[in-house]
Amino acid sequence: MKQCEYCGKNISYHDQYCSDECQIAANQYYGKTEKFAKPFMIVNTVCVFGIPIGIFLMSIQRMVGASVAAACCVILGIMLLIFPFATDGMIRKFKIGMATRVTRIVGICTIVLGIAVAGLAYFLH
Ligand SMILES: [Zn+2]
Repeated sequence: MKQCEYCGKNISYHDQYCSDECQIAANQYYGKTEKFAKPFMIVNTVCVFGIPIGIFLMSIQRMVGASVAAACCVILGIMLLIFPFATDGMIRKFKIGMATRVTRIVGICTIVLGIAVAGLAYFLH
């Protein structure tokens, strides 16, 4: 039994998607991925490196470091919300629909974490 590549519903062997909506949504996802993969990667890499740099700076200048780490978390989270690009492994496992939802949830958690870091640094000041 094959599964819809977007939502994971069981489909017949010669189909790729269960419905037109799933096919359109999948095409939109792949189109967006192709167009924005590079800027997404660049911003992500900067933010992923920015978080430990911010944490390191906190030992010297607590508020500056916390601001850098928090800003990186929030930017990273917003990027994941707008561009919920999952890894190929995640798509194979969860299908596109579920994988983008999981990525968005990770994005929200990252934003919350960023705000928590900024809040903690501020109150412990
Ligand atoms: Zn489907």
